[in-house]
Amino acid sequence: MDQKTALVTGASRGIGKAVALKLAQMDFKVIINYSSSENEAKKVLEEIESFGGCGRLACFDVTDRQACKEEFDKITKTEERLDVLVHNAGIRKDGLAVRMKDKDWDRVIDVNLTAFFNLVKPSVKLMLKNKWGRIIGISSTSGQAGVPGQINYSASKAGLIGAVKSLSKEIGVRNITVNALSPGFIETEMTQSLDMEKIIETIPMQRFGTVTEVASVAGFLCSNEASYVTGQVIGVNGGIY
Ligand code: NDP
Repeated sequence: MDQKTALVTGASRGIGKAVALKLAQMDFKVIINYSSSENEAKKVLEEIESFGGCGRLACFDVTDRQACKEEFDKITKTEERLDVLVHNAGIRKDGLAVRMKDKDWDRVIDVNLTAFFNLVKPSVKLMLKNKWGRIIGISSTSGQAGVPGQINYSASKAGLIGAVKSLSKEIGVRNITVNALSPGFIETEMTQSLDMEKIIETIPMQRFGTVTEVASVAGFLCSNEASYVTGQVIGVNGGIY
């Protein structure tokens, strides 16, 4: 119960997995959320336990409000605290605006943005008890700059930045920091289908970023060293924005 606890959504692979590992290395107990990739999530837990870290799995769809409530009931009973929330779970369903299906707009907004609201409400209630908290929303340069073919994704990630800025002003006085971390192009399953060679030409550092490079910034934001950093959008993008 004395160990600080972190909930990382979408932690079965990619950026979320790297953030979960980083926080476990920093001695947080990590709740590894995923919605379907059970084997991958189990491997993340095994890796954490292999270096003496502590964690547990939490399978739920972040858009399902009842499931979120049940998970927080479990956190309240089991860990009795929550110190860090990283809303990393995210999806893209790209297409030009005029052709985009309503369901593709709705789903991307639900997973990337509305879920943040679902999770923030119960998280803040728990953080208030210990007068310490760190909340990170994983945004994207797409939300800062806008990308053609991503009206849904860009809107969800820009919305996340607005939510983070607003919330930081509500709860800063409670010693809870709220920031957006905004990656550029990072090598993960999500970016596998992209034309890397063409994109690399547009990146000042001439390469994609790694999940570890994103996780190290997330680790800093969750540390005591970042105690006066709130309401910010921290880019990890190789200079692209
Ligand atoms: P991946 O596609 O590799 O991983 C996505 C993760 O989210 C998986 O763990 C997946 O688990 C989980 N997930 C998806 N939907 C849900 C859901 N409804 N409920 C719970 N978990 C869910 O993505 P990345 O690692 O590339 O991206 C992580 C975040 O970073 C996203 O928010 C993305 O938008 C953002 N980002 C990524 C960039 C990149 O270049 N990769 C750039 C900028 C931002 P499961 O399979 O079990 O559902």
